[in-house]
Amino acid sequence: MSQQHSVITIDGPAASGKSSIARLVAQRLGAIYVNTGNMYRAMTWAVIQTGVDPNDGEAVKRAAEGIVIDSPVVDGQTQVSICGRALTQDDLNSDPVNRGVSLLARVPEVRARLVADQRALASLGPLVMEGRDIGSVVFPDSPLKFYIDASEEVRASRRRAQGHTDQVAERDRLDSTRKTSPLVIPEGATVIDNSHLTLDQAVEAVLAKLPARSTASESQ
Ligand code: C5P
Repeated sequence: MSQQHSVITIDGPAASGKSSIARLVAQRLGAIYVNTGNMYRAMTWAVIQTGVDPNDGEAVKRAAEGIVIDSPVVDGQTQVSICGRALTQDDLNSDPVNRGVSLLARVPEVRARLVADQRALASLGPLVMEGRDIGSVVFPDSPLKFYIDASEEVRASRRRAQGHTDQVAERDRLDSTRKTSPLVIPEGATVIDNSHLTLDQAVEAVLAKLPARSTASESQ
């Protein structure tokens, strides 16, 4: 069995600020930052390349079986590659991917595979992993769980400021109502609403909740 390192789980709705917070928390702790949304986005990108409609669950399941996805760690964070090709932010945030990702993320077989990949990353070193089901499904036994929230208005305006035009409310609806691993506040999670916090304040709010030894660079 490979060693399992500590995992700080960070969940929350679209554009809640969790990615920026998780990346900085990981940097402060010397942990590996894992953005699991990018894994679902990469799968969506690859499925669309095969001509499959992300709304067709059966076809998505079959197409996904033939797709090789990897998450190598580069500069302290996971990248995502499909069949050896590293995807760019433009690929991952394209309009078709924004529209399709929450449809693909409903497919249980796709989730099972990505969850297995996410769990395997804990053998590499301490992680800060963010997504929708990290504290509830991927690492439910982690004692270090956070749920990052912000008001719908703040989230929509952050998304626009990033230059994206997708409907975060529609993705949230799909993510919260799907049968498999819906977005929930994980049991035992600390909820942080950062609507009126600066990024630094939100990062400090997470760090303040960690036991002293988690802020060392590793738990051996
Ligand atoms: O985090 P991000 O907004 O980039 O995630 C894109 C989509 O990927 C989410 O809206 C959700 O449908 C899916 N996702 C998921 N489970 C995760 C991470 C992301 O279902 N752990």
